[in-house]
Order: sequence, then C-alpha cells, then structure tokens
Amino acid sequence: MVTIRDGFGVSEGIAEGRIQVLNWEVPEVVHRRVEADLVETEVELFQTARDKTRVRLQSLKEATSKRLGDTEARIFDPQLMMLDDPEVIDRTVEYIRGNQLTAAQAFEWRILELRAMWERTSQPMVLDRINDLEDLHARVLRRIMDLPFLFDHTDAEEPVILVAKNLTPSLAVQFDPEKIVGVATDQGTRTSHWVILARSLSLPAVVGLGDITRLAQDGQEAILDGRIGRVVLNPTEREWKIFRGREVQIREWEEEIKEIVKLDADTKDGQPIALRANLDLPWEAAHAKSHGADGIGLYRTEFLMVGRSELPGEEEQYEAYRHVAQTFPESAVMIRTFDVGGDKFPMFLDMPRESNPFLGWRAIRVCLDQPELFRPQLRALLRATAHGDVRIMLPLVNDVDEVLRVRALLKEEEDRLAEDGLAFNPGHKLGLLIETPAAALDAVELARHADFFSIGTNDLVQYTLAVDRNNTRLAHLFNPFHPAVVRQLHQVSRVARAAGIEVSVCGELAANPLGAFLLLGLNIHSLSVAWPSLPEIKKVIRAFRIEDARTAAAKALAAPTSREVVAHLVEGVGDSIDLSAFSGRWSLNVPNSGV
Ligand code: PEP
Ligand code: MG
Repeated sequence: MVTIRDGFGVSEGIAEGRIQVLNWEVPEVVHRRVEADLVETEVELFQTARDKTRVRLQSLKEATSKRLGDTEARIFDPQLMMLDDPEVIDRTVEYIRGNQLTAAQAFEWRILELRAMWERTSQPMVLDRINDLEDLHARVLRRIMDLPFLFDHTDAEEPVILVAKNLTPSLAVQFDPEKIVGVATDQGTRTSHWVILARSLSLPAVVGLGDITRLAQDGQEAILDGRIGRVVLNPTEREWKIFRGREVQIREWEEEIKEIVKLDADTKDGQPIALRANLDLPWEAAHAKSHGADGIGLYRTEFLMVGRSELPGEEEQYEAYRHVAQTFPESAVMIRTFDVGGDKFPMFLDMPRESNPFLGWRAIRVCLDQPELFRPQLRALLRATAHGDVRIMLPLVNDVDEVLRVRALLKEEEDRLAEDGLAFNPGHKLGLLIETPAAALDAVELARHADFFSIGTNDLVQYTLAVDRNNTRLAHLFNPFHPAVVRQLHQVSRVARAAGIEVSVCGELAANPLGAFLLLGLNIHSLSVAWPSLPEIKKVIRAFRIEDARTAAAKALAAPTSREVVAHLVEGVGDSIDLSAFSGRWSLNVPNSGV
C-alpha cells in the first residue's frame, strides 16, 4: 500500500530508488553464560568476527580511495586501528575465559568500559572517536551475532534512497552520489551541517519526517521530492505520473538555468547585486563558476578535515585555497577559518564532550586556543592571497579582542612568510562573520577592526531566539523573520555602511526568495548561497525593484510580529515572483505565514 509522508524539503531535486535503511544502532545483547567447554569456541567466534570486520573495513577503504582519493579513505583508519588494539582484544578474550561470557557480551563489556573511560578522562576523546567506537561496536557485534551487517552504501548495486534517524557531517562526506540518490530522515533541519553538505553534493533530501525509519523497509520502491519535502513509499500509478511531471519541469528549469547564468544579478531597476556562492568542498568551485557565481562568499574549510584522522597540512590547505582563488581570478573569495565544534568534530582534535556544544568550544574560540591548528591555516590562507582577492573571514566572533589576537597572529605569520621568501598580498582583507547578538549589537566597535562583515543568519537566528538549529521539534520556531532578527540585520547593515565596509549575508536566509527581498531592502547588496540555488536567487533578484524592497523592508522593520514582517514582504513582492513555487521549501522557517 502506498504511504506518503511530508517533512521538510531541505535539498532540491527528485529521486526514485529502492529504500535502504541505514541502521547504525548497536544490536541488543542478551545475557548468557557459556559452558566451560565452549569458551574457546566463543573466543574463536570473536576472532573470526574481527577478521571479517577488518576485511570489510579494508574494502570500504579501498572503494573510498578509488572514488575520492587516499586522504579521504583514511577516514577508516581509526576503526582499523581499534580493531587490532590489544586494549580491545585482550580484555574481551579475558572476559570470555575468566567470566564465561559469550563473545558478544564480553566484547560489549569491553567497549562500554572503553567508552566510559574515554568520556571521563582528563584529556577527553573526541566525539568522532566515540562515534568510531560505536560504529565498530555495532559492526563486530553484528558479525558475532550473525545479523545483517550495517549498510555500507558502496554495496548498493542500484541507486538507493537512504533512510536514517539522523546523520552526521562525517557520515555525509562519505556519500557516493552515484549510489545514493536521496536521503530521508526522521530528524534534522535545514541548517544542520550534514544537510548543508547534502545540498553541496546536490543530493535531494527530506528531513524531519518523524517516523520514516519505522515505516520504510529495505528494498521498497520510493519517490523523494526534496523541493516540496515529500517521500512516497510504494508509489501507485498516480504518484508515478506526478513524479514524471516533476521530472519534465526540472528538465525545463535546467534549460532555463543555462540562460540565467549568462545574465547579471541586477534588480529590475538596475541595482547590481554581488551574488556569490557558498562552498563546502573544493570541487564545488567549478559548479559555482558554471552556475554564474560572482565569487565565493563563504568557503567552509572544516570539511577539509571532518572525518579525517589527521590535520591537513599547510601545503594541502594552500592548494585547496589556491584552487578556488584561481577558479575566480577576478572576484572576491571569502574563506572562513575553521568552524569546528558545534556539530563538527575532527577526529584528531581532542574536543571535550560538552553539554551545549553550540554554546561551547567552537570556531574562533578553538582556533585561538590551538595555535598548532590555527597558524598553519593562517599561513596557507595568506599564501593564497597571492593568487587573487582572497579574504580571510572569522566565524563566531564576539568581541574586538578576538579580532586583535588574530591580527597579531597574522602579523607574525606574514613576517615569517616574508623571511621564508613566500608570496602573499600584504593588503589582504580580514572580515568577520556576524553570528551572535553580541556581535550585532557591538557591530560599531567590530567595524573599526574589520574590512568587511558577513552575516551568518543560521547561527544568528539560533543564538537570538535560543532555538537549536539542529532540533527538529523546534524547527517551526527557527524563524529568520522574527522582528529581533530583522532589527539586527538592519543594525549591522547600517553600521557597515557608515563604516564604509561591505556587508553580505551567507546564511540560508539569502537563499530564501522572501529573505533575499528583505536583505536587499535593508541595503545588503551582497548575498551568498549554495551553488544549486544561484540561478533561482538570481531570477528572483532580477524580478523585483530595489525601491519596492526598501519600502517593504522599512515596513517590516516597524512590524511587531514575524507574521506581520512576512505579510509586509509578501505584499511588497506582489506578483513579481511566484512565492507559491517556494512554499514547500520554506514553510519550515516561516510559521503560519503560508510562505
Ligand atoms: C551561518 O551561521 O549562517 C553560516 C553561514 O555558517 P554555518 O551555517 O556554517 O554555521
Ligand atoms: Mg555559522
């Protein structure tokens, strides 16, 4: 029987395929003692499970290496190492022999012990490493218990739609777009970092489906529409017909895109807008270029290291940054320094388990505390400034002192580069992401020390409204049209203009048609969006007049509620753009507005 579920469409595109449930939970182990004469059989069972797991991980590593390269394939090294670690093996065997436990239970005891130890230690292990341990826990247990092992998407013979409770950025970087054509999850939100990554990979995704893992079954036929946020299990003739119709629409849109990319991003009454692209991975630069980006407004560098077992060196970073600079020799390329923490935890960095990671050791705070992480990045960035208009951008800045400390580090690295005879542009620009109410309220002071501002609305909304950007239950409260957000956007824009520095917006709000209309009306003339959204936003920009946007923004600024903010914007847009075309995608962020 057909089942239709609606969630939040967070990454455009439609997909058809068979369902594959990504089951990364640890199976339950039943307590049972074994007879003394069977103890050695259990030991053998454990060793065989280890061998099989090793073979499996090695083949995954090889497949990843062929697809993405050796560096990316190292993602499997920590698990392979743990698998052969005497700390894991000896104790497990001891528990089997000494306590007459089954292989499954002995292994589980040992893993739980290690986990507890890692969580307690004074030099705590990183969350990613604990995730690795959990992954290994499930893999080996499933082998011992002879359960179907975890789905590894590289196995898939035909394209699959992946169904999971939720995902992580380190899982998402491993996705092979040839094997996975869509993702549907119970949880997740538009601004979760794994979702941002899915958009970069152009992978259609629907999140916040609530119980899709319960409803969907492996091998079922399914359709997923990432624009309207719908998943159809066991589609009937009727749904297939709708799907084919949508395919035709998408093909027509792809034809239209070819024309749009050649046009300027000017409003109808001639106001030029700098429409740039957000990048998460270096190879996206080519897509940004072919989709008509006027430079890069945000390059998230942490994906150079998420899921990897070691820090990328200065040379590797330099190459990654230079590659993007050279793709856009005539335009600005804004590269953000590592924004680790929050929901991105590189393996090689010892990050404490925190109860509030988004209010914790994140972004610039980590970088300033860890010069061995930060200095090579600054050097690589400085060297990249020799190849174009490369600008350095700092995430989550709260006060002037942080900027001054970065400036001092930059000065030292510039001197060292000069001594080493390595080229950089001494007039390079340093900008700040405005992502907290503190930064927005203190924008006047920050502007004295910054060459430009870029507003990160994903975090600004989260911190202003105290709404976790990853919490599906609160998604309806994550509202960028809240008057408190609109006023801060206005304040930052005004301060930047008065200080004579550029201000742009690189959060998801810029990719929302109504959001773009508001931002332009607030005199923010630079927007940066994920590359798949570039043509759509350019079309939107070209459809309205800046004067109308200003009038509507002025009314929105005086509005007492978000509902009225939205109403003024909708009225201002009039029939210049068809907002209904966006309704499915954006209802997430605009409660009760119908948009
Ligand atoms: C933001 O916070 O709006 C932003 C662009 O950065 P990120 O989504 O990577 O936190
Ligand atoms: Mg941010």
